Amino acid sequence: MTSFAKQLLDWFDQHGRKSLPWQTDKTPYRVWVSEIMLQQTQVATVIPYFKKFLGRFPAVDELAAATEDEVLHLWTGLGYYARARNLHITAKKIMAAHNGEFPATVDELITLPGIGRSTAGAIAAICHDTHAAILDGNVKRVLARHFTIDGWPGGTETQKLLWKKAEALTPHDRIADYTQAIMDLGATVCTRSAPDCPACPYFNSCGARINGTIGQYPGKKPKKVMPLKSTVMLIAELNRNVLLQKRPSKGLWGGLWSFPECESVNAIDSLLQSLNLEELERTVMPQFRHTFTHYHLDIEPVRVIVRETNRIAEPGEEIWFNVSAPQLIGLTKPVTKMLAELPDNEAQ
Ligand code: SF4
Repeated sequence: MTSFAKQLLDWFDQHGRKSLPWQTDKTPYRVWVSEIMLQQTQVATVIPYFKKFLGRFPAVDELAAATEDEVLHLWTGLGYYARARNLHITAKKIMAAHNGEFPATVDELITLPGIGRSTAGAIAAICHDTHAAILDGNVKRVLARHFTIDGWPGGTETQKLLWKKAEALTPHDRIADYTQAIMDLGATVCTRSAPDCPACPYFNSCGARINGTIGQYPGKKPKKVMPLKSTVMLIAELNRNVLLQKRPSKGLWGGLWSFPECESVNAIDSLLQSLNLEELERTVMPQFRHTFTHYHLDIEPVRVIVRETNRIAEPGEEIWFNVSAPQLIGLTKPVTKMLAELPDNEAQ
């Protein structure tokens, strides 16, 4: 075992977290759900979502049997919804092709949707004691700082170097503990903005700390000017119900429910017409910006109180969403925000 691994395990034995909800009963299913939730999201945010999700779907067969709407509903607020859709698809695959059992090898695990090399490594190492390296955001940060590895970790060359390091350092003994430990060190000590170097087992060997260059690692993503797009969202409201449409499962906000859209406020009339809705009163609400990884989207909400018609929402594609007693469906973040800001019209 390298001294890097030995120092880390000594630290983990004394200071590592061992009672996080997914650490207490380490089944591949629980570790998988936690790993997917922890991609892009902090531990403190994940814990309540994890508990709620596992409370509703304690095992992979229950997740496989759920509707996509319910899965997305439990994910609402966590963001990066492709993670939830892939979780659901993978659960079905595990039931159909693997008799409900998770494969044990990295090679098999990475064939499943949403499971990349690092997540596969974590499941194999933590649940099956397989010698497999991981390289999530926390590990990248620790390795980049300790070994002063330049460049943005998402770049091909830097990524290759980091994987090589991660593999060389991963021990054959206590692989499950080592895997937990390196993630834990990045999450609790070698944090992004305020690393607690005096509490770190690598205080004396870390290159970035010794050189006083911690802020330079990991390297920043090369800056691109983000394009700006805009849309108008129609909040058609009828007796505290608003009309939502289900988005196609592929593409932006796939499978989530959102408001009907048009290009400009001038196009609201024809949108209402195409939806067979009759306008009673209109308010243009303040514009706001939603930022995705690749672009900004300026959203202009237009609230229109509509008259009761014989119109029936298309089943499975449209829903009159009850604002006072919400149905259990997945909503986009801007929709959640707009619903929260909707004026209470009970007095009308
Ligand atoms: S010494 Fe500081 S910068 Fe280096 S690995 Fe430890 S916490 Fe991170």
